[in-house]
This record gives sequence, C-alpha cells and structure tokens, in this order.
Amino acid sequence: MKKKKRSRKRSSLKKKYLKGNYTRGQIISAVFLMLTALYAAWIIFEKPEQKEAPAPEIRQEYLTKNSYSRSGIRLRKVRGIVVHYVGNPGSSAKDNRDYFENLGKTHLAKASSHFVIGLEGEIIQCIPLDEIAYASNERNSDTISIECCHKDKGGRFHKKTYDSLIRLCGWLCTRYGLDEKDVIRHYDVTGKDCPRYYVRHPDAWKRFLKDLKDYLLIIAEK
Ligand SMILES: [Zn+2]
Repeated sequence: MKKKKRSRKRSSLKKKYLKGNYTRGQIISAVFLMLTALYAAWIIFEKPEQKEAPAPEIRQEYLTKNSYSRSGIRLRKVRGIVVHYVGNPGSSAKDNRDYFENLGKTHLAKASSHFVIGLEGEIIQCIPLDEIAYASNERNSDTISIECCHKDKGGRFHKKTYDSLIRLCGWLCTRYGLDEKDVIRHYDVTGKDCPRYYVRHPDAWKRFLKDLKDYLLIIAEK
C-alpha cells in the first residue's frame, strides 16, 4: 500500500512540475525574450560597416588591350593589394605607364600594373579594377597591383609617393573590405627583391603597415 501511495505522489509531482505546467502565453514570452536577447547580441557584436575612405586623385590612362600588358581577363575577387617598386630610378609614373603600353608593340615582356605612383605623388591607373594586371605572378588573379616610382637604386619611396600610397591603399582597403594585413610586397609572393627598400628594411615595411592601419582607424572614426 505504502509503495503505491508514494509512486502516485511522485507521478503527480512530475505532472505538476514537468508537464503542462507552462501556458502558451509563457512559452510565447520565453521565445520572445530569447529572440530579443539574440537581436541585442547581434547589434552589440556585429562589426559596423567600414566607411569608404576618400579616393585619391587618380588619372585614368588605360592601356590599349593587348596580350602583353592588358589581357582583359576578369579580376573576379580582390583579396589583397601588392606593392612594387618600378626598379627604374628617376622614371615618372607616365614613363612607366607608357613602357607598359609599348609592350603591346615591343613584346619584350608581359608586365603591367593597375596603378603607378610617381615621384610627385601623382597616380596613374593603367588597368580597370575588374581586370587583372601582369605584376604579381600567382597573385595576379586576386590582387590589385601598385607600382611606386623612386629616386635612386635603393628604392626608398619619396614622401609624396609614400603619402599617395597610403591614401590609395586606404581607399582600396575600404572599398574591398580589406585591412593592412592584406597589403603585401611582391617579395611576399615570390621572394623577389621588390619593393627593394622595403624588402631590405623590414622595419620600414612594418612602419608603412602601421601608418596604413592608423589611416584606416582615422577613416573608421570619422
Ligand atoms: Zn614587383
């Protein structure tokens, strides 16, 4: 008898606390609270969309389509930016742009770059952003390339060139959702001595990336 009584008591307790103890209203409010909490977490933790940095002044002088410097092959997804030095001391952005253009006739090499930054900080765009350039070997297919002019063999960028490079990289980073970690040297792709000064002076490269990071932070806070 006692046993039966106890088991009956237990089953009624079970009923009380485990089954059917919540009204439909309570369940709806619990779900509502959970959804509100999830929404609040999403608002708090979601990365704010990055503002686009102002575009620097760019002269578009696109190359004529040819298989040596402007193939017209689509650049589908931009995953990085590759920095180069032109390796021709004292030459201007226009000189280098024209060198690429002439490769279509001279057939001396396959080479080009999306942008060339000159000694005065002028920026010439040679290739549209939705086409590949011939600059960065196996990374041609997913990067934008920037060639920088320099005064001497050492390859250090003059202040005006350097400042334009920061502005151009900043604009491209915000445009493609990249950050300073996605900006690399040609050296990082193939081990080539390019851009020479920033391969031979890794600290100067680190400083450049830090300057770019600071610039991106200023843009984000604006
Ligand atoms: Zn290079």
